[in-house]
Amino acid sequence: MALLEELLDTNSRLLIVGAHNDDVELHCGRLILAREGKNVDIIFTATGSIEHWVTRIAHSVYRRTGDTSSVRKSESIKALSMLGVSTSSDDAVSNHVRFLPYPQSAIHLHPECVDDLINDIEELKPDKILVQAYEGGHVDHDTTNFFVALAVRRLGIQKDRIVEYSCYNRYQGKRRVQVFVPSGSLGEFTLIPSPELQLRWLEAMESFKSQPGIFTSIVPHSTHEIFRHLPDYDYSKTAVPLGYVKLRRFFQWLPINIGVFLPVSGRIGYDELKWSVAVNPLNVVQSYKSILGNE
Ligand SMILES: [Zn+2]
Repeated sequence: MALLEELLDTNSRLLIVGAHNDDVELHCGRLILAREGKNVDIIFTATGSIEHWVTRIAHSVYRRTGDTSSVRKSESIKALSMLGVSTSSDDAVSNHVRFLPYPQSAIHLHPECVDDLINDIEELKPDKILVQAYEGGHVDHDTTNFFVALAVRRLGIQKDRIVEYSCYNRYQGKRRVQVFVPSGSLGEFTLIPSPELQLRWLEAMESFKSQPGIFTSIVPHSTHEIFRHLPDYDYSKTAVPLGYVKLRRFFQWLPINIGVFLPVSGRIGYDELKWSVAVNPLNVVQSYKSILGNE
Protein backbone atom coordinates (compact mmCIF):
# COMPACT_ATOMS: atom_id res chain seq x y z
CA MET A 1 0.00 0.00 0.00
CA ALA A 2 1.32 3.43 -0.83
CA LEU A 3 2.11 5.61 2.17
CA LEU A 4 -0.74 8.01 1.53
CA GLU A 5 -3.29 5.19 1.46
CA GLU A 6 -1.86 3.85 4.70
CA LEU A 7 -2.25 7.27 6.30
CA LEU A 8 -5.82 7.53 5.05
CA ASP A 9 -6.76 4.05 6.27
CA THR A 10 -9.18 4.69 9.13
CA ASN A 11 -8.79 1.12 10.38
CA SER A 12 -5.25 1.90 11.35
CA ARG A 13 -4.58 4.00 14.41
CA LEU A 14 -2.74 7.23 13.66
CA LEU A 15 -0.85 9.33 16.20
CA ILE A 16 0.11 12.82 15.06
CA VAL A 17 2.73 14.74 17.05
CA GLY A 18 3.38 18.45 16.73
CA ALA A 19 5.02 21.06 18.92
CA HIS A 20 2.52 23.90 18.89
CA ASN A 21 -1.21 24.24 18.91
CA ASP A 22 -1.77 24.82 15.19
CA ASP A 23 1.11 22.74 13.72
CA VAL A 24 -0.95 19.57 13.40
CA GLU A 25 -4.06 21.40 12.18
CA LEU A 26 -2.18 23.52 9.62
CA HIS A 27 -0.06 20.75 8.15
CA CYS A 28 -2.14 17.59 8.64
CA GLY A 29 -5.62 19.11 8.92
CA ARG A 30 -6.76 17.89 5.52
CA LEU A 31 -5.50 14.39 6.24
CA ILE A 32 -7.52 14.43 9.47
CA LEU A 33 -10.58 15.73 7.60
CA ALA A 34 -10.21 13.05 4.92
CA ARG A 35 -10.29 10.46 7.76
CA GLU A 36 -13.22 12.31 9.38
CA GLY A 37 -11.06 12.35 12.48
CA LYS A 38 -11.39 8.59 12.89
CA ASN A 39 -8.77 6.75 14.93
CA VAL A 40 -6.61 9.84 15.24
CA ASP A 41 -4.78 10.81 18.41
CA ILE A 42 -2.78 14.00 18.75
CA ILE A 43 0.02 15.05 21.06
CA PHE A 44 1.33 18.60 21.31
CA THR A 45 4.72 18.85 23.00
CA ALA A 46 5.23 22.59 23.57
CA THR A 47 2.01 23.92 25.06
CA GLY A 48 3.58 25.57 28.08
CA SER A 49 4.29 29.26 28.48
CA ILE A 50 7.09 31.04 26.70
CA GLU A 51 10.09 30.98 28.99
CA HIS A 52 12.71 33.19 27.42
CA TRP A 53 12.35 36.88 28.18
CA VAL A 54 13.46 37.96 24.69
CA THR A 55 10.76 35.87 23.05
CA ARG A 56 8.23 37.18 25.56
CA ILE A 57 9.13 40.77 24.64
CA ALA A 58 8.87 39.92 20.93
CA HIS A 59 5.39 38.54 21.49
CA SER A 60 4.19 41.45 23.55
CA VAL A 61 5.55 43.95 21.01
CA TYR A 62 4.11 42.29 17.93
CA ARG A 63 1.02 40.58 19.17
CA ARG A 64 0.31 42.79 22.14
CA THR A 65 -0.42 39.73 24.18
CA GLY A 66 0.93 38.15 27.31
CA ASP A 67 0.93 34.41 27.85
CA THR A 68 -1.30 32.89 25.18
CA SER A 69 -0.81 29.22 26.04
CA SER A 70 -4.34 28.64 27.37
CA VAL A 71 -5.89 30.58 24.48
CA ARG A 72 -3.88 28.50 22.01
CA LYS A 73 -5.09 25.26 23.59
CA SER A 74 -8.73 26.24 23.30
CA GLU A 75 -8.22 27.37 19.69
CA SER A 76 -6.65 24.02 18.96
CA ILE A 77 -9.52 22.08 20.51
CA LYS A 78 -11.99 24.12 18.47
CA ALA A 79 -10.09 23.60 15.21
CA LEU A 80 -9.60 19.87 15.81
CA SER A 81 -13.27 19.34 16.55
CA MET A 82 -14.08 21.10 13.26
CA LEU A 83 -11.66 18.69 11.59
CA GLY A 84 -13.61 15.76 13.03
CA VAL A 85 -11.49 14.77 16.02
CA SER A 86 -13.61 13.96 19.00
CA THR A 87 -12.71 16.47 21.70
CA SER A 88 -14.49 17.47 24.84
CA SER A 89 -14.11 20.94 26.20
CA ASP A 90 -13.97 19.70 29.83
CA ASP A 91 -11.67 16.79 29.48
CA ALA A 92 -9.71 16.97 26.26
CA VAL A 93 -6.71 15.29 27.85
CA SER A 94 -8.39 11.94 28.42
CA ASN A 95 -9.73 12.12 24.90
CA HIS A 96 -7.77 12.11 21.71
CA VAL A 97 -5.80 15.31 22.23
CA ARG A 98 -2.93 15.57 24.69
CA PHE A 99 -0.97 18.63 25.69
CA LEU A 100 2.53 18.23 27.09
CA PRO A 101 3.36 21.32 29.12
CA TYR A 102 6.91 22.01 27.91
CA PRO A 103 7.80 25.66 27.35
CA GLN A 104 7.53 27.11 23.87
CA SER A 105 10.92 27.68 22.20
CA ALA A 106 12.70 25.70 24.91
CA ILE A 107 11.62 22.06 24.72
CA HIS A 108 15.17 21.09 23.73
CA LEU A 109 16.04 21.78 27.38
CA HIS A 110 13.52 19.16 28.53
CA PRO A 111 14.61 15.67 27.44
CA GLU A 112 12.11 14.24 29.96
CA CYS A 113 9.58 14.95 27.21
CA VAL A 114 10.87 11.75 25.57
CA ASP A 115 9.61 9.73 28.58
CA ASP A 116 6.19 11.34 28.27
CA LEU A 117 6.10 10.45 24.59
CA ILE A 118 7.09 6.87 25.38
CA ASN A 119 4.28 6.57 27.95
CA ASP A 120 1.73 8.03 25.56
CA ILE A 121 2.84 5.86 22.65
CA GLU A 122 2.65 2.73 24.85
CA GLU A 123 -0.84 3.70 25.95
CA LEU A 124 -2.20 4.77 22.56
CA LYS A 125 -0.60 1.93 20.58
CA PRO A 126 -0.59 3.71 17.21
CA ASP A 127 -0.02 1.78 13.98
CA LYS A 128 1.61 4.85 12.48
CA ILE A 129 3.21 7.91 14.03
CA LEU A 130 3.30 11.16 12.10
CA VAL A 131 5.68 13.89 13.28
CA GLN A 132 6.83 17.21 11.90
CA ALA A 133 10.07 17.20 9.92
CA TYR A 134 13.58 18.09 11.04
CA GLU A 135 13.83 21.07 8.73
CA GLY A 136 15.13 24.09 10.62
CA GLY A 137 11.82 25.95 10.56
CA HIS A 138 11.34 26.21 14.30
CA VAL A 139 13.43 24.91 17.17
CA ASP A 140 10.44 23.16 18.78
CA HIS A 141 9.51 21.45 15.50
CA ASP A 142 13.02 20.08 15.11
CA THR A 143 13.17 18.99 18.72
CA THR A 144 9.79 17.27 18.48
CA ASN A 145 11.10 15.26 15.51
CA PHE A 146 14.26 14.40 17.46
CA PHE A 147 12.33 13.39 20.60
CA VAL A 148 9.90 11.18 18.67
CA ALA A 149 12.84 9.51 16.90
CA LEU A 150 14.42 8.84 20.32
CA ALA A 151 11.17 7.52 21.81
CA VAL A 152 10.65 5.21 18.85
CA ARG A 153 14.20 3.92 19.08
CA ARG A 154 13.88 3.21 22.79
CA LEU A 155 10.56 1.44 22.22
CA GLY A 156 12.05 -0.62 19.38
CA ILE A 157 9.31 0.45 16.97
CA GLN A 158 10.15 -0.19 13.34
CA LYS A 159 11.18 2.91 11.45
CA ASP A 160 8.75 2.29 8.59
CA ARG A 161 5.90 3.10 10.98
CA ILE A 162 7.20 6.63 11.44
CA VAL A 163 6.24 9.26 8.91
CA GLU A 164 6.97 12.97 8.86
CA TYR A 165 5.18 16.04 7.54
CA SER A 166 6.77 19.27 6.41
CA CYS A 167 5.64 22.54 7.98
CA TYR A 168 7.93 25.29 6.77
CA ASN A 169 11.61 26.01 6.37
CA ARG A 170 14.07 28.39 4.82
CA TYR A 171 16.18 25.90 2.98
CA GLN A 172 18.55 27.70 0.59
CA GLY A 173 17.35 31.04 1.92
CA LYS A 174 13.87 30.80 0.44
CA ARG A 175 10.76 30.67 2.56
CA ARG A 176 9.04 27.41 1.78
CA VAL A 177 5.75 26.06 3.08
CA GLN A 178 5.25 22.30 3.10
CA VAL A 179 8.26 21.50 0.95
CA PHE A 180 10.72 19.01 2.42
CA VAL A 181 14.41 19.70 2.73
CA PRO A 182 15.87 17.10 0.34
CA SER A 183 17.07 13.92 2.02
CA GLY A 184 18.40 11.20 -0.25
CA SER A 185 15.97 9.41 -2.49
CA LEU A 186 13.05 9.08 -0.11
CA GLY A 187 9.64 9.01 -1.75
CA GLU A 188 7.32 11.90 -0.95
CA PHE A 189 3.56 11.65 -0.90
CA THR A 190 1.31 14.63 -1.45
CA LEU A 191 -2.28 14.92 -0.36
CA ILE A 192 -4.11 17.31 -2.66
CA PRO A 193 -7.48 18.11 -1.11
CA SER A 194 -10.73 18.49 -3.01
CA PRO A 195 -12.00 22.09 -3.15
CA GLU A 196 -14.64 21.14 -0.56
CA LEU A 197 -12.07 19.68 1.82
CA GLN A 198 -9.86 22.73 1.39
CA LEU A 199 -12.79 25.00 2.23
CA ARG A 200 -13.61 23.05 5.38
CA TRP A 201 -9.94 23.19 6.39
CA LEU A 202 -9.85 26.96 5.82
CA GLU A 203 -12.91 27.35 8.05
CA ALA A 204 -11.24 25.35 10.82
CA MET A 205 -8.08 27.45 10.56
CA GLU A 206 -10.17 30.54 11.37
CA SER A 207 -10.11 29.22 14.95
CA PHE A 208 -6.53 30.44 15.39
CA LYS A 209 -7.40 34.04 16.13
CA SER A 210 -4.35 34.53 18.36
CA GLN A 211 -1.99 33.61 15.50
CA PRO A 212 -2.56 36.31 12.86
CA GLY A 213 0.83 35.53 11.31
CA ILE A 214 -0.37 32.20 9.92
CA PHE A 215 -2.90 33.98 7.70
CA THR A 216 -0.11 35.71 5.80
CA SER A 217 2.80 33.30 6.05
CA ILE A 218 1.17 29.86 5.87
CA VAL A 219 -2.55 29.53 5.15
CA PRO A 220 -2.62 31.31 1.74
CA HIS A 221 0.37 29.24 0.55
CA SER A 222 -0.90 25.90 1.78
CA THR A 223 -2.62 23.98 -1.00
CA HIS A 224 -1.57 20.45 -0.06
CA GLU A 225 0.01 18.31 2.64
CA ILE A 226 3.20 16.36 2.21
CA PHE A 227 4.54 13.22 3.88
CA ARG A 228 7.51 10.87 3.73
CA HIS A 229 9.07 8.15 5.87
CA LEU A 230 11.35 9.47 8.60
CA PRO A 231 14.88 9.82 7.20
CA ASP A 232 17.95 8.84 9.21
CA TYR A 233 18.74 12.32 10.38
CA ASP A 234 22.05 13.27 11.90
CA TYR A 235 20.77 15.24 14.87
CA SER A 236 24.27 16.38 15.75
CA LYS A 237 24.00 18.74 12.78
CA THR A 238 21.50 21.53 12.21
CA ALA A 239 18.77 20.64 9.73
CA VAL A 240 19.85 23.31 7.24
CA PRO A 241 23.20 25.10 6.87
CA LEU A 242 23.37 28.17 9.07
CA GLY A 243 25.85 30.41 7.27
CA TYR A 244 24.36 33.72 7.98
CA VAL A 245 22.97 32.88 11.39
CA LYS A 246 26.58 32.44 12.42
CA LEU A 247 27.32 35.92 11.14
CA ARG A 248 24.44 37.34 13.09
CA ARG A 249 25.71 35.76 16.25
CA PHE A 250 28.31 38.50 16.37
CA PHE A 251 25.51 40.83 17.43
CA GLN A 252 24.44 38.72 20.31
CA TRP A 253 26.30 40.76 22.89
CA LEU A 254 23.65 43.48 22.54
CA PRO A 255 21.50 43.45 25.67
CA ILE A 256 18.38 43.39 23.52
CA ASN A 257 18.90 41.99 20.08
CA ILE A 258 17.82 44.45 17.39
CA GLY A 259 16.04 41.62 15.63
CA VAL A 260 13.34 41.62 18.27
CA PHE A 261 12.19 44.97 16.91
CA LEU A 262 12.21 44.11 13.24
CA PRO A 263 8.91 43.10 11.65
CA VAL A 264 8.48 39.37 11.87
CA SER A 265 5.65 38.82 9.42
CA GLY A 266 6.70 36.72 6.48
CA ARG A 267 9.95 35.80 8.20
CA ILE A 268 9.94 32.27 9.37
CA GLY A 269 12.77 29.97 10.18
CA TYR A 270 15.79 29.66 12.39
CA ASP A 271 17.71 32.18 10.37
CA GLU A 272 15.82 35.06 11.85
CA LEU A 273 17.26 37.63 14.13
CA LYS A 274 14.43 37.12 16.54
CA TRP A 275 15.65 33.64 17.29
CA SER A 276 19.30 34.40 17.52
CA VAL A 277 19.34 35.44 21.16
CA ALA A 278 16.40 33.48 22.51
CA VAL A 279 17.24 30.30 20.66
CA ASN A 280 20.64 29.81 19.15
CA PRO A 281 20.44 26.85 16.75
CA LEU A 282 24.03 25.92 17.50
CA ASN A 283 23.25 25.67 21.21
CA VAL A 284 20.19 23.60 20.35
CA VAL A 285 22.28 21.10 18.41
CA GLN A 286 24.73 21.07 21.31
CA SER A 287 21.88 20.06 23.62
CA TYR A 288 20.87 17.29 21.14
CA LYS A 289 24.44 16.02 21.21
CA SER A 290 24.48 15.83 24.99
CA ILE A 291 21.12 14.00 25.00
CA LEU A 292 22.45 11.55 22.39
CA GLY A 293 25.60 11.14 24.47
CA ASN A 294 23.50 9.96 27.41
CA GLU A 295 21.59 7.42 25.32
ZN1 LIG B 1 4.90 25.45 15.29
